[in-house]
Parts: sequence; structure tokens; C-alpha cells
Amino acid sequence: MYAVNQAFMQKFGYFLVTDTDALWVRLLREKYRVTDVCPATITRATCTPLWRAISTGWSEFLTNIAWSIGNGRSIDLLNDTWVSSLGPLRDYSNDPLLLSDDLSLQDFIAENGTWDYNALCDLFHVSVVDRIISIKCPEQCDVDDRCMWRWTTSHTFELRSAYSRLVGLLWSLKQAIWFFLWLAYKRKLLTNAERCRCHLSISATCVVCNVSDETVTHVLRDCCVTRQLWQQLLPPALAQHFFSMNLQAWLSCNLMSTFLHPVWNLSWNLLSASLIWQFWKRRNDIIFGNMAQTDEALIRRSLAWADRYYACARAGKKLLSSPRATSPVWIPPNPGWFCLSVDGGVSLAGMGRIGGAIRNSEGDWIVGFVISIGFSNCLHAELWAVFEGLKLAWEFGFERLLIQSDSRQAVDLVNSVSADSSVLSLIRAIARLRQKC
Ligand SMILES: [Zn+2]
Repeated sequence: MYAVNQAFMQKFGYFLVTDTDALWVRLLREKYRVTDVCPATITRATCTPLWRAISTGWSEFLTNIAWSIGNGRSIDLLNDTWVSSLGPLRDYSNDPLLLSDDLSLQDFIAENGTWDYNALCDLFHVSVVDRIISIKCPEQCDVDDRCMWRWTTSHTFELRSAYSRLVGLLWSLKQAIWFFLWLAYKRKLLTNAERCRCHLSISATCVVCNVSDETVTHVLRDCCVTRQLWQQLLPPALAQHFFSMNLQAWLSCNLMSTFLHPVWNLSWNLLSASLIWQFWKRRNDIIFGNMAQTDEALIRRSLAWADRYYACARAGKKLLSSPRATSPVWIPPNPGWFCLSVDGGVSLAGMGRIGGAIRNSEGDWIVGFVISIGFSNCLHAELWAVFEGLKLAWEFGFERLLIQSDSRQAVDLVNSVSADSSVLSLIRAIARLRQKC
């Protein structure tokens, strides 16, 4: 349930940064004085429960948002995510010494208005450059840069995409916990006793109670505060030998007990795994001087994780369907008209190639093109193909033009009534060219 709620909150967040003309968005932005299109934080001291819920997940939400280039004026070349498959480019430089915050998108645009491939290669690895050049260059005549959803090919928000992301994050958290438990089982956690044994520390004493040596069993079970909590939560069935087992027997016993906890109604193995993990995290917070969780917060978090893990494990099995394409059939245009047939494809390595041909009503080939477009996806390649085809038609002065593409999704997007304000810069560019033709 938690992941579903969070996904809905992300939906609100998405509209808050993309649908800034909508009345309810304007009202909310005004009420909470949100001036930036996509601010780093939206936390306010006094706010409604809805706003609080959105702001709590905001930092995670921001990782799901990318910039769609329009005129390129708002985008920070190195620190903003505008290559959606990569994230901020600061992390991908050939040589960090060459990076300067003064660099802007304009510095990498050649005189003919396309990307300056060589200049980009000076700063980034070629595999990064391949991803950059598949994005349409900024154009002064285009709309302002705007935000888009990072994880769908159409870059519009989809609830299932947000949900899958959340479930995916939970999944990696799950792996982290199981890995941690395995380390604990092998007594490989770096406790004070272990640090002392390896001469990394002079004291083996537990920093929480200052009484016993800090062994793995001590941190996870026997330290006074930990023991108190276990006693509070322990199901009666396990109480008798719980504190007398050795570490491995104790971990195995907990992690193999699948009965439901009588109060929380959650499987004990999940709940105990989560508690053990949280105890270790709290111990680290104390040692490294961070704010440590209270007992209540620790229990709440453990319960929430066990609950979410179960819910997500069940829901995450749904398969996502892939979009279908229609089969290509060449339809001759009416006499006096020309037909532009385009296609785009992506290799297994993700490199896109596009091609197109313009023919007359007799089927005679007039002109064509084949272009590599760098790292891409199928929809993107189809849209590039339409765009390049239209540019060619415009250069040759073909005004009566029928366009054929075998991608239903691309055709629908290009024919949409809101194509000129689409979140995808290629669709806007296509709309502009169609108005010109
Ligand atoms: Zn202790």
C-alpha cells in the first residue's frame, strides 16, 4: 500500500512541476510560494497533510524528473538531469579538471545548430556523447525548458512507472538487508570487538552501554536497549531460548520463522530481519554522531518495511506490456502529392539509426536519407526519422506531403492536438515544421 500511495504523491509532484498553467497547480504554487519550476525542496513549516506528503517524498521525486530541452536557457549543463538515461553529466566527465560551472549548453552547439561532437568528446566519453547527440539541440525559437518524467519513452507520467521505481528501490534495499544478515551470520560486521581484534581500535567496549564488549550478538540482541525492545516485541513462542542461543542459531531461528506476529500480523522472519538491520543502523548512527532513531521510530520503520516488502513482492510480479507497432504498407499518395516513408530502429546495444525516402505518386524514388542518431530508443528513433524526413521535404520544397511511419505511438504523438506544446522537443520541432510546410 505504501508504494502505491507514494506513486500517487509522485503524480501530484509531476503535475506540480509540469502543469503549471492548471488552476489547482497555480493555487498551490502561490499558496506555498513556489517560484522555481522545479525547486530543490518544497518543505514548509505549516502546510496541509497533502503538501506534507508530497514534500516528504520530494527528494526521491526529483530523481525521477529530467529536463526536456526547449530553448536551453534554464538548464545547468553539468548539474541538471537532461540526459534522462544518465543523470547529471558532472559524474561522467573524462577529466573533472576540465569541468567548470561556467560551461553551458550553448558552448557545445556548432554553427549549423547541431551538437559540436568534437567539443563534447573533449569533455565526455564517447558513449556519453552518443546519448547527448540523440537529444535534439536547443533552439532559440522553442519554448522554455521544462520538466518531464524520466522513465517512460514518451516522458509523460505513468503511475505504473513510478510504482515500479519504488518497488525497484525496495528490492535493492531488500538485497542490502539480506547481504547484511549474511555478514552478521559470518560474524563479519565491523563491531568494536572486531575492530579491536584487527588493531583498528584500542577499546572493544560497546559505546551504548559501556558495559560489555561489542560483539555482533551484543549489538543485535544483548545490549541493554536492544534487549529491552526485543522483550517488548518477542512473540511468546520464541521467548524461552531467544537470549540463550548462539549467534548463528539465533539468526537462523528468526529468519526461518514464518508464523505471523500476534499483534502486528506480519511474518516474523521479515519483521525480525528488519529489526536486526535497524538496530545495526542505529548503532552506526550513534558511533558516527548522527541523530539516532528513537525506539518508537525504529519499531515503526521496521514494521513499515516488513509491510511494504510483502505488499510489493506480491504486486511487483505484474508484467508490463510492450507497445505494438503496425506493419508497414506503402500507400501511394494522390497525384501531385509526395510520400515520405520513414523508419527508425535501435540495435541491441541501443544505438539508433533512422532512414527515410520521399517518393512521388508513381512510386519513383526522389530523395532519401540514412542517419545514425546515437544512443536511442525505438519511439525516439521513429520521431527522429519523421523530423529528418520533414526537414528534407522542406529543403526540397515538397508542400503536398503524406508521411508514413509504422510506429502507431509516434503517429499518435505527432498528430496530437497538443503536439506544439508536447514535452518532447522532437514533437514540438515536427509540429513547427508541419506548420511551415
Ligand atoms: Zn551495549
